[in-house]
Amino acid sequence: MLENIRIILVNTSHPGNIGAAARAMKNMGLSKLVLVDPVDHPTFEAYSRAAGADDVLGDARVVKTLAEAVTGCTWVMGTSARERSVQWPMMLPRECAAASIKQAELGEAAIVFGRERTGLTNEELELCHALVNIPTNPDYSSLNVAAAVQVLCYELRLAALESAAASAPSEPERNEPAAKHIDDVPATADQVDGMYQHLYQMLEDVNFFGTSHPEIIMRRLKGMFNRTHLTRREVSILRGIYSAAQGKKAVRK
Ligand code: SAH
Repeated sequence: MLENIRIILVNTSHPGNIGAAARAMKNMGLSKLVLVDPVDHPTFEAYSRAAGADDVLGDARVVKTLAEAVTGCTWVMGTSARERSVQWPMMLPRECAAASIKQAELGEAAIVFGRERTGLTNEELELCHALVNIPTNPDYSSLNVAAAVQVLCYELRLAALESAAASAPSEPERNEPAAKHIDDVPATADQVDGMYQHLYQMLEDVNFFGTSHPEIIMRRLKGMFNRTHLTRREVSILRGIYSAAQGKKAVRK
């Protein structure tokens, strides 16, 4: 399951943190590292901090945006050094790890880490289903980003071990019901993003925005949809509704 979990570092400034994150991942059995617009990469410093994890570092995918990094993921968790608004459900590392391992049984999951100085932007948080906060000293709450990667990878490892122990099948359980219908699996981040773009276009077409701020309304709507963790079928129903509202015939498969 750990192989289905991506660790994403956004716009990291210090190469040493990239290397230390790769090492933390490998210690805990994770290998998929994605770097979004790193300030300086690849570097000697990152490789020297990665120690024996130069394979994880060398295999790291480098992309321009977080949207690109989460393509194909059905579960995305953001990390935050502080409490954000109610829009994002907040989890503790243990809950985050349990949820991520569960999701990784069905598809690809991601945990996203922010910039050293400023964390993640609201726009980036909009791509997340929930946020995780590592409880720290309230007077000094912000961890080094690679230390935060270490804490969460450790929790992921514990949750994976627990899940493997719990799911060793006993005899009668082997005849489990057939897998869910393909449409009932969680939608991927890119499918949900396509639905958001369609929603925006539809709301514009029906003149919903008027004088209000589209970006604020969209942020609320995205927060609401992200909390529900949409399935592929639901995304397709919503898009059918938008097409109907736009006066286009809903495409039925
Ligand atoms: N001032 C920034 C701090 C960024 S710390 C902010 O308030 O967001 C850099 C990154 O380390 C964060 O984006 C997050 O990914 C991780 N991090 C640091 N402390 C954390 C904590 N207590 N819980 C969860 N993630 C944390």
